[in-house]
Amino acid sequence: MKTKALLKISLRQNAIFIPSEMIANDNKNLSATTSVLLANVSKLGFTFSESLLHALNNVNPTYKVEVLEVLREVLGNDKNWTPLVKEWNIPTGESVLDHIVTYFGNAFKTKNGTTLQCGHSIPDNTFPLEKYNGCPFCGTPFEFGKLENIGQGSKLKVLDLWSEKELQDFYKSLLQSKTALDATQVESLKTALKYLPLPKTDIAMKETLMLVIDVLIEEGQAEKASQYFKSPTDILRYLWFKNTGLLQIIEPKTIIKRTSKNAQHFYNVLDTSAQAKIASQKDLKLKYSRKECLMVANWLKNLDMDVETMCEIMHPKRGMWVRVIRALRLAEYSKRKGFEKLAFLMDVFYNQVYDVWQSKVNTSRLKFDADKTFALLKQRPGLFARSLFSNMLWFGADETVAHFEEIIDKVPARLVFTLNMYAQNYFDKNMQRSVKPLGGTNKRIAPNALLNLYDEAQLEAMKNQIEALCLLAMKQRFATIANLNKTIYIDPQLFNMPVSIGDRSETVQDLPVALMGTRFPIEGNEVRLFMQWGKDLQAQHLDMDLSCHIAYEDKADICSFSRLTTTGCQHSGDIRHIPNKIGTAEYININIEELAKANAKFVTFTCNAYSNGSITPNLVVGWMNSKYPMKISEKTGVAYDPSCVDHQVRVTQNVAKGLVFGVLDVAKREIIWLEMTFGGQVVGGLDYKGVQALLSKLNSKLNIGKLLQLKAEAQGLTIIEDQNADEVYDTKWAINAAAVTQLLID
Ligand SMILES: [Zn+2]
Repeated sequence: MKTKALLKISLRQNAIFIPSEMIANDNKNLSATTSVLLANVSKLGFTFSESLLHALNNVNPTYKVEVLEVLREVLGNDKNWTPLVKEWNIPTGESVLDHIVTYFGNAFKTKNGTTLQCGHSIPDNTFPLEKYNGCPFCGTPFEFGKLENIGQGSKLKVLDLWSEKELQDFYKSLLQSKTALDATQVESLKTALKYLPLPKTDIAMKETLMLVIDVLIEEGQAEKASQYFKSPTDILRYLWFKNTGLLQIIEPKTIIKRTSKNAQHFYNVLDTSAQAKIASQKDLKLKYSRKECLMVANWLKNLDMDVETMCEIMHPKRGMWVRVIRALRLAEYSKRKGFEKLAFLMDVFYNQVYDVWQSKVNTSRLKFDADKTFALLKQRPGLFARSLFSNMLWFGADETVAHFEEIIDKVPARLVFTLNMYAQNYFDKNMQRSVKPLGGTNKRIAPNALLNLYDEAQLEAMKNQIEALCLLAMKQRFATIANLNKTIYIDPQLFNMPVSIGDRSETVQDLPVALMGTRFPIEGNEVRLFMQWGKDLQAQHLDMDLSCHIAYEDKADICSFSRLTTTGCQHSGDIRHIPNKIGTAEYININIEELAKANAKFVTFTCNAYSNGSITPNLVVGWMNSKYPMKISEKTGVAYDPSCVDHQVRVTQNVAKGLVFGVLDVAKREIIWLEMTFGGQVVGGLDYKGVQALLSKLNSKLNIGKLLQLKAEAQGLTIIEDQNADEVYDTKWAINAAAVTQLLID
């Protein structure tokens, strides 16, 4: 278990971990087992770097087998990849009429037809049954084929060698990450915490801390956790994480709303949202054992903070605190000897005898008292940063920025960075902003109404003001660090990648990870989307849909279950029932030439859950891309070839309804990797404007490349094209997003 778990962590970082004690000798000639491994791995689209090949050549065959097994597992080789239609690249010609005739045929039990295993009778002269692997009417598959065409990929991905040092460095970088970890990093960290001792290092983010504390408590070291709690919010965050599994404090009403929204269905009979609402409310009921109550009472009384400050911090989440305090029976514990501080806290909190900073800010702001408002805001630099833009519109840009400049060095770097990213959209009257509330799905929101007080030139000036401010702040921070190096290399790709600050990815990347914004050039004329789901689940109705949305300048088109064939796109057929344990698959073929000829602009890749509930676990989506034509089995329609997979993600989060997992830019012939969740059954809002709003978030000026440029200027480094520079920043370095965040100096 341990070996495979650690292998999976390294694979996500494009490497294979081999413990040094496993490398038994120093044999230079390739052994027979190594050659076999190499051949098998290349069929999956991978090969080894020289050092990895040498190391693998000198480990025992068991380890080699494990390497191959991990790759096969991640690429889903043992799953069922059979679609509903055999030769799905040729439209079956099925029509809505076929569905209607079959519907009535079954309702009135007419005789002339073929009865299938699912019990449906398909009337003669409707669906061409010989073209299907299952029932065309209800979407239940009966026939399953094997992977036939593998190894058609036009490029092999080179895996590197990881020793204990690289594994340990990666582990530490996760703990030190200056932005919250995404789902992939969280999985890797949890695995590391499980199998490796906790290294001595500072933990930079609260969310990361929660995972670590959890492990400490599981090991019966709750008192050790006490030192990590700095404020009541940390404690609330931990309790919430234990209750909901979510790393941020999301208000219960948001969770309940989202769960019931996902269960709303077009047809009333199938609408279980009321049940879902009740079930979810029940889930959020708090219940604690005596041991847990005492543990939290101790944490609270041990906080190194005065009671008034604690109360003020607790105030914004007052409702949640009231519930938690009751559930933990803290009033009872506060009567115990040694818990006097807790008693005092309960008293001040319940009687509300504390000042609330935010309400003072609101009052002076409404009175238009600039001096008082800014004096207050300067006490809380982080909150000043968050309200900077609206205050610029309210009090005027110059005055607000002048006050902000006085405290900008106290604002965390990731916030400074975020400011610049969002200024570009915020000060644009026409730009609907794409925002994602914590725990919710992406929404487009209308611009601030105060923007209308200003003309375009003034708003442009505000954007530039913010950018200049942020650039200066980042540069000053780089300048405080002495650097003896002379030259620096910055990979051009890094200028396409935003620093991962705002949206955290909720899907897991098991293949070598790609940062959002990564461009994948299209090698041939075809891109093939795939989706596989239901592995390890019992046979049942489970409808997941793979679709793509085609944006033209003046219209939109869709290829999905309801429209299997459209200009440039062909769907493999809608499966609504999964077979037992092996899962099932859908595909879409995208023809680039045809789309270009029709003048299509973007194709957005999406998947969603059409049945009640959220996307199922064990769902994998991705796309294939090869210079060579990618075959489709004539016998079964199986069209998956692991060696052609550019990118794939595993969906684990079960609150999201639908997912965008990539955008194809037809003119540029490239696929942009990005991820966004959306609510509702139907893919709406992915029109030309919607996609542009999405992409504009990726095109922020303060990308990783630009940040490195600032570093070079501030530290007097010469940027050179040569990869032998003193400091090298290439895509290999950027694959560890946690390490990249170390550029955000506080
Ligand atoms: Zn059927």
